Amino acid sequence: MLYLYNSRTKEKDAFVPIYDHHANMYTCGPTVYNYAHVGNLRTYIFEDILRRVLKYNGYKVNHVMNITDVGHLTDDADQGEDKMEKGAKREGKTAWEIATFYEKAFKTDMALLNMLEPTTWCRATDHIDEQIAMVTMLLEKGHAYKTTDGIYFDTTSIPDYGEMANIQNQELAAGSRVDMGEKKNIHDFALWKFTKEGENRQMEWVAFEKKGFPGWHIECSAMAVKYLGEQFDIHCGGIDHIPVHHTNEIAQTEAVTEKKPWVKYWLHGEFLLIEKDKMAKSGDNFITLQTLEEKGIDPLAYRYFLLQAHYRKQVHFTFEALEAASQGLKRLKNTIARIPEETVKDMSVAGAFLEAINDDVNTPEALALLWKGLKDNVITKELVTDFDKVLGLKLLDLETKEDVIPENIQILVEKRKQARSEKNWALGDSLRDEITELGYDIEDTPDGQRVHKRT
Ligand code: AMP
Ligand code: ZN
Repeated sequence: MLYLYNSRTKEKDAFVPIYDHHANMYTCGPTVYNYAHVGNLRTYIFEDILRRVLKYNGYKVNHVMNITDVGHLTDDADQGEDKMEKGAKREGKTAWEIATFYEKAFKTDMALLNMLEPTTWCRATDHIDEQIAMVTMLLEKGHAYKTTDGIYFDTTSIPDYGEMANIQNQELAAGSRVDMGEKKNIHDFALWKFTKEGENRQMEWVAFEKKGFPGWHIECSAMAVKYLGEQFDIHCGGIDHIPVHHTNEIAQTEAVTEKKPWVKYWLHGEFLLIEKDKMAKSGDNFITLQTLEEKGIDPLAYRYFLLQAHYRKQVHFTFEALEAASQGLKRLKNTIARIPEETVKDMSVAGAFLEAINDDVNTPEALALLWKGLKDNVITKELVTDFDKVLGLKLLDLETKEDVIPENIQILVEKRKQARSEKNWALGDSLRDEITELGYDIEDTPDGQRVHKRT
């Protein structure tokens, strides 16, 4: 049985899909006004692992991911500039060119990180009619009202607004000021915004008698309902989506469909932090996959780095930790490449692996089991291939034959380890010389010796 932590029930729930053997999931996709940073990519890697876990459990997964190419404002409280228009100004291109460019860049990142492609991609700008239809229905049902600057959802028109985020019980921080404008209630949010007088927008459509554009949340509701139906199994995103984006998606969708719950399981990935701050798309700590590649770090080493932590735990990004993960992945692949042919697999390891990933996607435990099984010589290459369906680390792909540390070098390395543990430094040094002469470099680290072929 697969258990997943559900942000809506705040418990690890047994996964029982609406339709037998099928898992329907929607993941909030990128806002394509810039490259994804490694924090964003953490969320997508978690979702990819979740999807693989579902598949491994025999479910036919229908995975829908949107591309936000309009309407996501710089401020979550419906103020500020449209991120797409901002990106266009920054780069002197049209908003449409920006969207095309960064959507492609995102898909390249996904491929480099060995993420599975969603079964359906959907762009907000390709679904304007569906969004207008949903806003119209909300107006008709009395859940929305018009102001001079847009159409807003009336959060007091439903009994349980903000239940998942426990919003009703949260006081606003003392002294905080909320610019209500013409909003009736503090949490009301924009479904549709009108283009401001004198504003020169590139992306706008005529609806509700004026030029305007969709609010950010409505796209996910309209597209998820279109592709997955009025009720489906799983919806994911980063943890920051709980209080605003997902709260608003739930409110407007359940108000339209009058069916509860819209989504059975809500899953959220924790943040990647850099120097205690969350990584943001502005500021100095903006690190992309390209940044890593420029430093010679394999994207899959980043994936391995993340899998060492549970997706509901914060992770601190440092280049030192990433370098250690990179070495760890190389060692893992090397160990796998040298699994003796005569190894007999122990099926209890496979059982334990399944149990770990089915316990709310416990990848650190799954990796620990893999390492231990390799050490105990009870894992075959066939079993690694099977585990890698979930991990997606390409564990049996070696870039070149050189990546495999040959047997004779391994023996020398082991001897040196032994010599050093016996404090026989002279022997240790002469073994190092021998290894170096054979074209390999050896490094002593707190995690032990690291060997690599000199390039
Ligand atoms: P965006 O492209 O800004 O819409 O964000 C894409 C995804 O990345 C969303 O699911 C966010 O919740 C998530 N996200 C943003 N910052 C971080 C971070 N520092 N760590 C993990 N996920 C993040
Ligand atoms: Zn969304």
